[in-house]
Amino acid sequence: MPHPSSPVHASAHLHAPLRGFLAVSRRTLAIGTLALIMALVVVHDLPASATTVAAPEVELEGQELNITMASVTSKLSAPVTEERDGYDVITYSMVQWPVDPSSTVTAGFGHRSAPCVGCSTNHSGVDWTPGYGTPVHAIADGVVVARSMSDWGSYVVMQHDIDGQTVYSGYAHLVSGSNVPVGTVVSRGDVIGLIGNTGPTSGTHLHFSIIVDENTFVDPLAWLRTHVTEAWAG
Ligand SMILES: [Zn+2]
Repeated sequence: MPHPSSPVHASAHLHAPLRGFLAVSRRTLAIGTLALIMALVVVHDLPASATTVAAPEVELEGQELNITMASVTSKLSAPVTEERDGYDVITYSMVQWPVDPSSTVTAGFGHRSAPCVGCSTNHSGVDWTPGYGTPVHAIADGVVVARSMSDWGSYVVMQHDIDGQTVYSGYAHLVSGSNVPVGTVVSRGDVIGLIGNTGPTSGTHLHFSIIVDENTFVDPLAWLRTHVTEAWAG
């Protein structure tokens, strides 16, 4: 005769081991996790030559080699060298001041009231007054050329190639006979004459001009500030 409580009893027996299994499993899992962490720590501390970690390293090296080869192939097929042909080579000519740039400027470039009989009303340069006999320096390498300048007294005009452009520099009212002759090849910084007062002047000074495009006088102070590459050394 079947026991009326058998299903209940069986069910109780079924649940008891299940709860026990779960409980054991949790404990086992906890212990297992701890053991795994400890094992990882131990493995981590092992030298790289250990057999268990050496195998994956070899495989990783192989993958890196494949990526490198792909990169090289990609770069070889790209038109990199053709793009680099677009470089522009920019060179600058060495340019310096003709006299100490801190010298007093008595007249700037442009329209003015004539300061003397025979002085221009449209001033073609800048006037400096560092003193009679002060050496005047070539602003750049060049050659002294013959160029007719009215009312410049004893003067020098030099032709230069500056940054690929033909530029003339003019130095006027020099001490008579101090100006270097036409045809002289001059290096930047060479003394090309001494400051005087030849020609129609209001007094001793250096008149300095810059001419571009063969016949265009430009503001020499602005031009020098743009082109001077060398600090004034005296
Ligand atoms: Zn002047």
